[in-house]
Parts: sequence; structure tokens; C-alpha cells
Amino acid sequence: MIKERVLFAASEIYPFAKSGGLADVAYSLPRALSSQYDLCVVMPLYQLVDRERFTIGSLNESFEITMGEVNYSVELYGCEYEGIRYYFIYSPLLSERKYLYGSPEHGYEDNAIRFGIFNYAIVEMLKRENYAIAHLNDWQCALVPLLLQTQDALSTKTVFTIHNLAYQGVFEKKTLEQLGIDEIFYTLEGIEFYDQVNFMKAGIAYADSVSTVSPNYAKEIVTTEFGYGLEGFLKHHQSKLIGILNGIDTLQFSPSSDKTLLKLYSGLTGKAINRRAYLKSVGLKGIKKPLFIFIGRFTWQKGMDLLIETLPSLATFECNIAILGEGEAVYHTALESIAKSHRNIYLEFGFDESLSHRLYAAGDFLLMPSLFEPCGLNQMIAMRYGSVPVVHKIGGLADSVISEKEFNTESTDGYGITFDRANQGDFIAAIEQAIELYENKRRYNRICRHNMQCDFSWQESAKEYEALYNNQIDS
Ligand code: ADP
Repeated sequence: MIKERVLFAASEIYPFAKSGGLADVAYSLPRALSSQYDLCVVMPLYQLVDRERFTIGSLNESFEITMGEVNYSVELYGCEYEGIRYYFIYSPLLSERKYLYGSPEHGYEDNAIRFGIFNYAIVEMLKRENYAIAHLNDWQCALVPLLLQTQDALSTKTVFTIHNLAYQGVFEKKTLEQLGIDEIFYTLEGIEFYDQVNFMKAGIAYADSVSTVSPNYAKEIVTTEFGYGLEGFLKHHQSKLIGILNGIDTLQFSPSSDKTLLKLYSGLTGKAINRRAYLKSVGLKGIKKPLFIFIGRFTWQKGMDLLIETLPSLATFECNIAILGEGEAVYHTALESIAKSHRNIYLEFGFDESLSHRLYAAGDFLLMPSLFEPCGLNQMIAMRYGSVPVVHKIGGLADSVISEKEFNTESTDGYGITFDRANQGDFIAAIEQAIELYENKRRYNRICRHNMQCDFSWQESAKEYEALYNNQIDS
């Protein structure tokens, strides 16, 4: 059987570069699809990508991209990693930077041009080789469907996935010319957004299919509360919009084979050893108290304001709290000032993949008070490591965590504590519920064991992507 060719593009991919869940998805979804398609993956070659470790070499293929009046040189790099072919786009403006997108507070001023180069380079790849499907992810690749409108010779179909609608890639009008995009696309139906250029809007307008990362988020983004100004536009395109729940890579996140852990485990005794070792290593006292963990980007989306507001009250409970993350400076400062007066709070600032795994293994409860959450991976990873999620019931969290009050051993769902509104009262009530559950050791352990057996893999969701691709190929 000849497999159809698929080019999967994303601005970050684990383990080359990761700032959040997109990198995990861009690593694991292609792997789940690779048995069905002749699939390769493309991303920018950032400065921080370790070329030596992954034996990333030049493919001796370079070309020029002309945007506006300016030429940008591009060189293709590549490597094979765990059976998947990866391409990397090198161009000085895109690549020679410390961060992927800029500091947590401000994206680089020339991000429109940087990722414009990335989009044009993807189109060049599509022109050089025949791909049936280009799967584009988030605003950083969203211009491709628009650019393909002027490539009549190409029959490639496009699937555009929204991982987070809050980041749309909105730039001043003058970037239209700098990107070499014709004025005919600068319309209400196209890339124009309140007299600015909106990359995400171009993806939604011109892609053949649009998906997002959970069924519930697909419903939410057509409403004013979650649509970030694009709700009407998305409603208009709703017939081609589908929500497919993300999975996690169950090999990458597996307590029974995770080399970052002190002790591998598939049951709660092994987990307890990791937990004890973590508490000891960071000096948190009280082995019997529940350990609440938080892992994530320090940004308003993750409910940082609610977490910080609630933290002093949470710290007065008989519990320990460990927080791992990085992001906006105001949140670092606020957390530090609270932690100073509470010895049961431990802070780890930075992005550390191994440490995050050890924390999932150590934690009893994972806090996720997110204001919105397109899918969220932390809650699935936590359940796999036997840590019960405490989540605001929105987006993909509502799709993947069922209230422990409805616990049913026969079900294949994962269970945790859910709360309806992102306010202090509801959050504290959820924490009290967690502590009460923890005191009922038998029930708590049953829920942990059940969650650890749940299937959070890509198996089911990959089938939905296959159907999406195949529908496009057959149309
Ligand atoms: P996001 O909105 O950031 O994409 P997700 O829940 O989809 O959120 O995915 C977050 C991913 O990033 C998870 O794999 C999580 O473990 C990881 N992560 C977040 N912050 C950190 C950190 N500071 N160190 C290590 N891993 C992190």
C-alpha cells in the first residue's frame, strides 16, 4: 500500500525545543500517525536546538525567500529521530535568537517576519515535493493556507489546528506589505482583524479543515468568553471545525519506564518512594501531609492570580505545596513573597523536563485552576503518575477529568476534583474536598490506581485525525 505523504509543521517540538504542550503534541501525534502515512515534521532551527545531540546536519539545500522587497536566505537541515524524519528551517532572523518567541512579557518585534519566513519555507517544501496533506499548528504556521491560495499547481490539502486561541499572531497593518501578501487578502473574510494582520485568522479562513484540541474547547471558542474576538469568525467557519482531544505519549510519560525517576513504579508503593525522596531533597516536612503540586507557565491563563490569591490560605492547611514554572516576573515576585512566610511551600523557577516528571511522581494532587484550557496535558500526565488533578472545569479539563464524586471503577474515564467557577471560594472548597479525599486513604488509593490504568494515549484521537486527513484526500 502506498502511503499518502503528510508534512506536519509546528513552531516547537519536543525534545528539540519546548515551551509548552504544543511541543508534546508535535512530538507524539506524528508518531501515532506515522504507521498510516509517509509523514515528516518541520520546525524552525532555533539557536537552542542541540544540533550535536540530535545529529542535525545541513541537507545542502538552500533557497531565497522574497517577502516585500527583501530577500531572506533559508537553509534546510534535517535528522532522523526515533524513526521520524525531521526538517529544520534555518534563517538568521528566525534562528539566531535566545528565545523561541521572545521573553514571557513581550514577543520579538519582528515575529511577523520571523514566522513569515517559516511559512514561506514550508510552502517551498510543499512545492519541491508532493504532499497530500500539510498539517499546520497554531498561528506560527497559519499563513500557509493563505499562501497556497496563489499556488494553483499544488493539490496539497491543509489541516489547521488551534492549540490556543489566545495567541493569534496579530501585527500592525504594515506587516502585510513586509510579508509580501496581496491586499486582496486584507478583508473581513481574510487576514484583516480590526485594521491589523491576524495570522490565526488566515489559517481559519483558508485551511480546508480546522481542528482544535478538545471537543469542549471547540464549543467554547465560538462564544464571546473564549473566542478572543474570533468567535463570530469561527462560528462562520463552524462546519469545518472539529474538536479532537489531545493524548499524551505513554512511553515518554510512563512511571514504569521513566529514567528520570528515582524508582520506577506501576503501583502506589513505588510512588511513595519517589514522593518521600522528593520531600527530603527539597526539605519539605511531614510525610503524612498531602503534597499539592503546580507545574506550568506563569501566566494569567493558568489561573496564576487565583493561585497566588489562594496560596496563603492553602498553606495554612496541613499540607505541602511545590510549584515548578517560569513566566511573568510579577508572578515570580508574588510567589516568592508568599513562600518566605510559609515553610510548607517550595518553589522551583525554570523549565526542567526531568524535574517535572519527578514532581508528577511525588505529588498527591495537581492544581490546575486555569481560566481557560484548550486541552491541557498536565492533568493527564498527573493521572498517569498517580497524582489526582484538581481542575477548573473548562475546556479540555472538563473533557478529561470527571468529578471523583462520580467515581465508577467500570469506567475508562480519569477522576479528580473539579470546580465550576474560577474564584477563591470554589478553589478552596475543591482543596478541602481534596484533603477530605486524602484522609479516606482507601478511596483515594483506588482512584489513583484507576487513573494510572486509564488510556490517555493517542490511540483513539489519532483515528480522528486519520479520518480528517482521509476526508480531505478523498474530496
Ligand atoms: P500549555 O498551555 O503550557 O501548552 P499544556 O498543559 O498543554 O499547557 O502542556 C504543558 C506541558 O509543559 C506539560 O508537558 C508540562 O509538564 C510542561 N511544563 C510546563 N511548565 C514546565 C516547567 N516549568 N518545567 C518542565 N515542564 C513544564
